Amino acid sequence: MEKKQFQAESKRLLEMMINSIYSQKEIFLRELISNASDAIDKIYYKALTDDSLSFNKDSYYIKITPDKESRTLKITDTGIGMTKDELETNLGTIAKSGSLAFKADNELKDGHDIIGQFGVGFYSAFMAADSVTVISKALNSEQGFKWESHNADGYTIEPFEKAEVGTEILLKIKENTEDENYDEFLDEYRLKAIIKKYSDFIRYPIKMDAMVSTPKEGSEELEETSEEQTINSMVPIWRKNKNELTDEDYSSFYAEKHYGFDKPLKHIHISVDGTVRYNAILFIPEQMPYDYYSKEFEKGLELYSSGVLIMEKCGDLLPDYFSFVKGMVDSEDLSLNISREILQQDKQLKFIAKNIKNKIKRELESLLKEDREKYEKFFSAFGRQLKYGVYSDFGAHKEDLQNLLMFHSSKEKKLVTLDEYISRMPEDQKYIYYASGESYERIEKLPQTEAVAEEGYEILYFTDEVDEFAIKMLMNYKEKEFRSVSSSDLGIEPKEKDSNKEEDAANTELFDAMKEILKGKVKDVRVSKRLKSYPVCFSTEGEVSIEMEKILSAMPNSQNVQAEKILEINTDHEVFQSLKSALGKDQEKLSLYTNLLYNQALLIEGLPVGDPVEFTNDICKIMV
Ligand code: ADP
Ligand code: MG
Repeated sequence: MEKKQFQAESKRLLEMMINSIYSQKEIFLRELISNASDAIDKIYYKALTDDSLSFNKDSYYIKITPDKESRTLKITDTGIGMTKDELETNLGTIAKSGSLAFKADNELKDGHDIIGQFGVGFYSAFMAADSVTVISKALNSEQGFKWESHNADGYTIEPFEKAEVGTEILLKIKENTEDENYDEFLDEYRLKAIIKKYSDFIRYPIKMDAMVSTPKEGSEELEETSEEQTINSMVPIWRKNKNELTDEDYSSFYAEKHYGFDKPLKHIHISVDGTVRYNAILFIPEQMPYDYYSKEFEKGLELYSSGVLIMEKCGDLLPDYFSFVKGMVDSEDLSLNISREILQQDKQLKFIAKNIKNKIKRELESLLKEDREKYEKFFSAFGRQLKYGVYSDFGAHKEDLQNLLMFHSSKEKKLVTLDEYISRMPEDQKYIYYASGESYERIEKLPQTEAVAEEGYEILYFTDEVDEFAIKMLMNYKEKEFRSVSSSDLGIEPKEKDSNKEEDAANTELFDAMKEILKGKVKDVRVSKRLKSYPVCFSTEGEVSIEMEKILSAMPNSQNVQAEKILEINTDHEVFQSLKSALGKDQEKLSLYTNLLYNQALLIEGLPVGDPVEFTNDICKIMV
């Protein structure tokens, strides 16, 4: 039986491929430059084993020449070139990669710098050009050839005189259409930006003629002259030896790559040469980007494959709680898809991401240990993100992050770590205490802090919305439970005051009457163990604290979640006598006092009073 090959309508296939695999037209320049770089690399590799060949870096370059008048863009290289056969097979056959074959033929172990592998990048030229002309002369050939195709509808090859070895690709740039602009590919500045973006670390110079203004000789006037410039930085900083790099070098890289307008607080340089090889340069910024908590902010690192930009913001490389980290990763071991824009399978990426996460964590830990001042600066900018991290994903990352947390301390009046808190705890102290509020000043004045403070215990002040939620997720630190100073059980042994239970019993009648007056508003009325000088405060039972109630009720579709409030009365305070004397004699007065105290407790917490008019009327009543 005769075996037949599949036929393909190659023009249609090309069109489909060209227009579906690349998300952006500008990619064509990246592809053609990568091919040119590969062509030069091939001479470089050949020279390693062929003594008759010498490789002098200075004579190898890539040149980009736009010409607005003729609407052409020329990409010239001094690489290995192509013979007639090679033009036929490499450019005439879709999915044939001469570069991949070259790597195999020459058993290049270190050939990972060669970028090409899929044999489709070249055709991306048709995204920007109507016709493509390739003039090439191969190394050790006498004759050059011209390959030409209009709209990728077949091609012609004919002999063509070319003096130097290498390749010249001439693109006839498309005319603008109603919704597509092609002029940009003839614009010097735009081209420079595209080259910088994708091909900055191509190892050979990418040259372009650019107009420069120079003073005319002997006059003040400026003269416009054309001058050849090298656009790319060529040597990626991450390939350099760490010991040779200064802080200054890293800072300039940070600025040049537009990672931020600030200076980096810290850089992390990673070189891994294991199963997955990669280099990374990461930065912890000094300041929070202005859009950090907006929808516009997108986390991620730049992802390079052998020095060519694949993705501008690869989000999968960073966990959300380290989303402030900027920088890049370069790996030659990524499995790319044919557009080289996305990854085929993310096994290597996952591996790199995990490595990076651990490295950032360790670096932050050592910063905390070695440069406290810097760490505090970092924490003021991004600490909240770490706390979100503790809370998110049902606490899955809390083990990773808890050592990095800091809170303002009632004793130290500055940020302290949980370890520091624990290390200072007196033996009889059962819990890690915290108090929540709008500001340190307001928390300091919270009546609920009195009892804990009087015991001499340290209190952590929570002012970020996320704090209590994060702590609820942590539950405890080194076996010490967290406890709010508003909690109904503070775990403090009563000292002078004998059992509160007894007192409660003695006052049952009064408290029952008050509870009746505040029906539905409080769960209970009790004698306070924590108040020393204030007459009244709330404590809470259950999962939801008053701060959490505030935050939850401010959310767009809040479910009216309420804290279970307990009105605590300071029985040592004079108002208590007033309450007592009203009981059974003057119900109206008792009701007035009870409502006033309740509203006071609300105000202390920063909660709105239910009916402000009634409240002010009540105050007037007791004044007259
Ligand atoms: P890839 O680069 O993935 O191999 P391309 O479609 O970009 O695929 O290129 C196909 C082949 O054409 C390359 O593998 C290479 O052999 C050849 N080629 C393309 N451009 C050049 C060039 N400038 N110089 C020499 N060979 C080239
Ligand atoms: Mg290519």
